[in-house]
Amino acid sequence: MLRSPYIQSIFIAFVAVRRNLSRGFTLIELLVVISVIAILASMLLPALSKAKGAAHKAYCINNQRQLNIAWLLYAEDHGKLVPNGYVESATLGLQRPWVSGGTHVERFMHTNSQLLTNPSYSAFAQGGYVGSANTYKCPADRRPTFFQGVNYRGVRSYSLNAFFGWVFPGAVNYGAGYHAYAKPSQLAGMKASDVFTFIDVNSDSICYSGFITKMGTSEQFFHIPGAHHNGRGAAAFVDGHVETLKWKDQRTITNKTILHFEASEGNPDLKWLQAHAAERESPLRPAGEN
Ligand SMILES: [Zn+2]
Ligand SMILES: [Zn+2]
Repeated sequence: MLRSPYIQSIFIAFVAVRRNLSRGFTLIELLVVISVIAILASMLLPALSKAKGAAHKAYCINNQRQLNIAWLLYAEDHGKLVPNGYVESATLGLQRPWVSGGTHVERFMHTNSQLLTNPSYSAFAQGGYVGSANTYKCPADRRPTFFQGVNYRGVRSYSLNAFFGWVFPGAVNYGAGYHAYAKPSQLAGMKASDVFTFIDVNSDSICYSGFITKMGTSEQFFHIPGAHHNGRGAAAFVDGHVETLKWKDQRTITNKTILHFEASEGNPDLKWLQAHAAERESPLRPAGEN
């Protein structure tokens, strides 16, 4: 029972304080009061940290919902074409990245919120779809990224499924035979509720703006999803819903520093990503056809 020790502790503290307000405290009495406060704190802290975790999760889900709405609005305003998920470019040009990013050795690309909020670097900022840099950061993503002897905190926690508007030659290597969607309506054999758009990403796997999944029979992660919420991540889907994802394998819920091509044989989480990133191209429905 939570209630009775609470009430007892408060009562003891109250009596001690009341009795001693006029004549001062003895050392023993002070120790009693301090230990009562310590007991109360130890009872409250787990409840507080649980509440904090739930608040972080709700905030993250809300962030991804906003990003997904921005993504759909952008497509509505641009002839149904989605902004590009993976672009090796720091400027908008014709490539329309939702936000810009950089390689893992360009630290300023990860600590500079201008890449998210400056219209020169972000299609979402240019169209006024997302105004605040906070929308791009999961509050539970606290782990600093270690780079060249220095820890730093990145400004972005989410990437966009690279199969949407993929402008990167690597698509041939990682996603050969799979759709690179230009429009949300191009999903042919998959339901909109089954294909993810934005996803919580492991802080080491934030680089350019997209989340790449190596497809087919590959047993390697290219990018690793985030597990910031007590072993869970969160992702948005084409139909607009956002859900938390319970990762099953400890190699997904990792704190080790990882770049690309991380072998993870038989990892069910990798299989989940492959099944929810894109679908095989059908000979009856070539990529790019609406
Ligand atoms: Zn999150
Ligand atoms: Zn990378």
